[in-house]
Amino acid sequence: MTTPVLLLVGIAFVAAVILGIAARIFHVEEDPRIEAVTNLLPGANCGGCGQAGCSASAEAMVKGELEVNACVVGGTETAEAIGAYLGYDVAGSEPSLACATCEGGYRAARKYNYSGMEDCRAALQLYHGYIRCENGCLGLGSCRKACKFGAITMDPESGLPQFHPDRCVGCGSCVAACPKGIIKLVGEKTRILHWNQYTQCLSPCRQRCPAQINIPKYLAHARNGEYGAALATVKDNNPLPVATGRVCPELCATECRRQTQDDPLAINAVKRFVADWERNSGERMQVSIAPDTGKKVAVVGAGPSGLTAAYYLRRLGHHVEIFEQMPKLGGMPLYGIPDYRLSEEQYEWDIDGVLELGVEAHTGVKLGRDFNIHALKAQGFDAIFLAIGLWQGRLLPFEGKELKGIYSGIDYLRRFHTDEEIIKGKRFVIIGAGNVAMDCARSALRAGAEEVILTFRFSRDLMEANAHEITDAENEGVIMRCLLSPVRFVGEDGKLTGMEVQEVTLKQNPGSLPDCIPVEGSNEIIPCDVVIQAVGQAAELDEIVEADGLERTRYGTIDGKEETLETNIEGVFTGGDCFTGPRLLVEAVAGGRYAARSIHYYVTTGEIPPIEDRQREMVPQAMVDSLINVAPLNSRAVKPMISLEERMGNFREVEGTISEQQCLTESQRCLNCGIYCYDQNDLPQSEIRQATSCPNEPHIAEKKQAEKAD
Ligand code: SF4
Ligand code: SF4
Repeated sequence: MTTPVLLLVGIAFVAAVILGIAARIFHVEEDPRIEAVTNLLPGANCGGCGQAGCSASAEAMVKGELEVNACVVGGTETAEAIGAYLGYDVAGSEPSLACATCEGGYRAARKYNYSGMEDCRAALQLYHGYIRCENGCLGLGSCRKACKFGAITMDPESGLPQFHPDRCVGCGSCVAACPKGIIKLVGEKTRILHWNQYTQCLSPCRQRCPAQINIPKYLAHARNGEYGAALATVKDNNPLPVATGRVCPELCATECRRQTQDDPLAINAVKRFVADWERNSGERMQVSIAPDTGKKVAVVGAGPSGLTAAYYLRRLGHHVEIFEQMPKLGGMPLYGIPDYRLSEEQYEWDIDGVLELGVEAHTGVKLGRDFNIHALKAQGFDAIFLAIGLWQGRLLPFEGKELKGIYSGIDYLRRFHTDEEIIKGKRFVIIGAGNVAMDCARSALRAGAEEVILTFRFSRDLMEANAHEITDAENEGVIMRCLLSPVRFVGEDGKLTGMEVQEVTLKQNPGSLPDCIPVEGSNEIIPCDVVIQAVGQAAELDEIVEADGLERTRYGTIDGKEETLETNIEGVFTGGDCFTGPRLLVEAVAGGRYAARSIHYYVTTGEIPPIEDRQREMVPQAMVDSLINVAPLNSRAVKPMISLEERMGNFREVEGTISEQQCLTESQRCLNCGIYCYDQNDLPQSEIRQATSCPNEPHIAEKKQAEKAD
């Protein structure tokens, strides 16, 4: 027994001596930077960077074999710290998130019933999978299994993967695992610069939204209670969700497929809920900002278009300064929308969200009066965005126009938000029927007017205001008088005492507004002490045209190129109402993001690429006449409203925000519409949830043909 033990001890001793000598001979000095970089990494050892762990990752970075921004857990901060330590430039690093490009899911037509291995690759081996659509998601969740971060769940309703941005680190494992190539990693810049394309699978609501918000995506997050992710989805296209959540007329809902079965989704009410959820928390959701590009952009005008452009330009890494003529930022929604629809305090949350990104703002300075375009260029701005709005209220040139008591709609509304005296009176006549006219009429009632008559020279169906604004105005006591044309203003001792009007009939005029034919002998004088004219607005351009040679259109707007928003002055862009004429707040937001795209390309590459296959019109087949096997679900969420009695004598908010429960049940009503891959003739009755053919097919076919021809 003793001999074998001694023998083993001897062998061990000799081996130890040999190893010791070998270690001395082959010893390699470890680069001390590896340990330092390892310490800068988060120590998650997740393998998301493609290395065996954090030490291996650090070694590869030190050797220059791996980008310093490869750590998906550490993000930009870690990348910058490592970059600073190793002396590398980390410019261009930006967080990417996974997203799927298929919306078909369980609705896709099936070739056969599959009951094999729960793996998308295995399913694909069999006759290219059991889904008829070449592009469609197979729904077996190989991506979910590949994700080490729990950032993917499979939605039981649609069978599609759902990505949770708070957990996704952009490692790309799901991209590699998907045999259909449906998953993409999309960076911040790509999301900001993207515009709808016909070749995308776009739900009708998303096609109709001027800001192109991914509505089904935010509704899907909302129904899972992921309000932060829902809001982040909205903010990829719209940085003013508190404001738009209150005043947007919800064009998207007019195209919502759910209305073929019951009522359209209350899309904007859900947006408002998630926006208020953030505002009420008092903590702003952080968005990433690309590394500084060293480029400077001046934004002239702090309305929705200017604020939006500033927000995205800053997120794209540019230095942005806003120049605003009024004492406060916000533009027309701040000075023109009454508090009962959108209060200053509410809107300020959105505005602060822009400033907190590091956007600088100068207020009380007016282009043309205090500075000009040349001066901005001399200050080193690489591009200038003119979003100066329409601040000049048009006035009708009628007899008696000089009488005291006649104001423009903007002049009237602005005074509620400045130190100027509020216009008071007993009997108001409002001329016009747009949202500004309704705002004036409803404000006048709240400010103590005894009678408010709104006159409009066309018929009621041609009123431009949002339908519910008209109804609300009427319910509150505004008297609507259509088919009345103003003739002159009458007064005594320089003061207005009435407005003469004449009845008209309409003669249809194909392709444009009808002609108003006066009815002889129908003139009457409406007694009033205040007339508010809400009949149009113009941009204040004279000084800018004179000082800088800016060109304008015959409509009094700034002349610019439709595709790029460039004006006649090099490096000067325009957008928002001063370019398009008066439009909706959400359209100004869209214009701001579009301008940010053009300006970003201009200052970084000098060229503004056109948008391929840009979706300009609704794809005709996007709407369907009926849905098969879609049962009515929950009644549409209705916003709480204060009573008519509670509204008078004050500017309290009329419409409230829906409750969390309403948000959850409302977002469940979304059908998560997509347009690829399902055809009702292919679907067995039991599997039909919703059926239509793919409206993208003609475009895709055309594209494929063009490619072949090339
Ligand atoms: S696997 Fe996909 S979803 Fe999961 S963290 Fe990586 S990129 Fe994000
Ligand atoms: S059901 Fe949902 S995805 Fe479909 S149109 Fe309506 S809101 Fe959009």
